[in-house]
Amino acid sequence: MIPTRPLEPDDEQWRKLAAITVDHLAAVLRDLPAAPAAVLDATAEVLADPMLRRMPPEHGRPLPELLDTLVRAAQPGLNPSSPGYLAFIPGSGLVSAGLAGLVADVLNRYTGLAAPAPGFVALESDLLRWLADLFGLPPTAGGLFTSGGSLAAFSALVAAREDRLPEDFRRGTLYVTDQAHASVAKAARLAGFPRDAVRVVARDPRHRMDPDALARLVRADRDGGRVPFCVVATAGTTNLGTIDPLPEIAAVCRREELWLHVDGAYGAAFQLTARGRERLRGIEHADSIVLDPHKGFFLPFGTGCLLVRDTAPLQAAHAGDEAHYLQDLAGQELPDFADLGPELTRGFRGIRLWLPLHLHGVAAFRATLDEKLDLAAWAHDELAAEPALTVLGRPELTIVGFRCARSDDRDAATAELLARVDAERRVFLSSTRVDGRFVGRIAILNHRTDRERVAEAVEAIRRHARAL
Ligand SMILES: *Cc1c(COP(=O)(O)O)cnc(C)c1O
Repeated sequence: MIPTRPLEPDDEQWRKLAAITVDHLAAVLRDLPAAPAAVLDATAEVLADPMLRRMPPEHGRPLPELLDTLVRAAQPGLNPSSPGYLAFIPGSGLVSAGLAGLVADVLNRYTGLAAPAPGFVALESDLLRWLADLFGLPPTAGGLFTSGGSLAAFSALVAAREDRLPEDFRRGTLYVTDQAHASVAKAARLAGFPRDAVRVVARDPRHRMDPDALARLVRADRDGGRVPFCVVATAGTTNLGTIDPLPEIAAVCRREELWLHVDGAYGAAFQLTARGRERLRGIEHADSIVLDPHKGFFLPFGTGCLLVRDTAPLQAAHAGDEAHYLQDLAGQELPDFADLGPELTRGFRGIRLWLPLHLHGVAAFRATLDEKLDLAAWAHDELAAEPALTVLGRPELTIVGFRCARSDDRDAATAELLARVDAERRVFLSSTRVDGRFVGRIAILNHRTDRERVAEAVEAIRRHARAL
């Protein structure tokens, strides 16, 4: 029998559904330390499971069965929630952020504009203010929470373009190194720039942007009739976690009147720690900063953040033309987030960071980030002491790069080393190329990754490196 409001569970049903869901997830979390961080041999089997690939039924099915399906669907591939996940830039997935998502979705308020949900917009706006203060940005600063770093970079580049270039902006150029994240070039392309607008600046032996080379390239481009407008410095590269020299780059930007964008998607959260603050010195000069709470604040995927020194250019670039159907909602002191980014309708995205910060306290985040810095420094020292390995410099943040030292073909040996370590399924490492060379990485950012697990990674890397 179909109830009169088939989509609305009553009080008792809804509590039961929530309890079943939490029980299911709690079991997954209990198994997490023992579960592999990557399952690369189950894809075909899971995708071929007919139970998994059913179309929506005409009448509903029991929740436990659906949860089983979802947990099984989560199995193949990578598991960034795992403490053994030391690949790419690790995720985490704070459970408290999951609860925040539940609250936001059940209360369901519209935060695209301030008037429909002034309380929630105020909480989100206060949180952005707190972040702006963390990075030493002035009172004019603001920003917004996005779906991720890529969208935040896109809005930053559009704001820089609108602020610094004429309407025909196609001669505009921006500056990166070859260590910049691919999302920057993608954002430039989406913002309408030709591919050769992204200029690659030489870097120093520590893989950081060379500010003198930057200044020379900017001047040469100007002499060649181009219009330099923006420098993208990376504060924590995806490859090795290196930080471009922000004070020197800021000085070039000031002299040449260029917009300084800092890509801190991975690294900016370390500003919470004393060591991070020291290493990120100069970030306070940025015109815009990208950070990814779904990396450095351990949130589940889906939360990035853009901070700007001055909200005016961001708003000038994103505010839509007058929309008469919204005329009842104008005139608030609070920001209209729809005027600061591409989205109109959005949920209470900021709660995913707000609730964990208020529930656990800032000190818990600082301590966890400090622990990650300690673990990376320790892993570096352990690997550096191993004659069968070459280590690529002390980590500035939490990524350690390494290569096999002895083989005739070190690229192949390092690839084989990674394959052997990953095959044991206790940790999952990924690789990259730096200066054309194959490099293995330990990337530590998951809040669940502890000393024991990093020690397991180090032990496995040393053991296989010696055997190769
Ligand atoms: C992850 C990352 C990005 C891209 O952010 P998304 O949230 O994946 O869109 C950009 N820059 C750096 C340095 C990153 O590590």
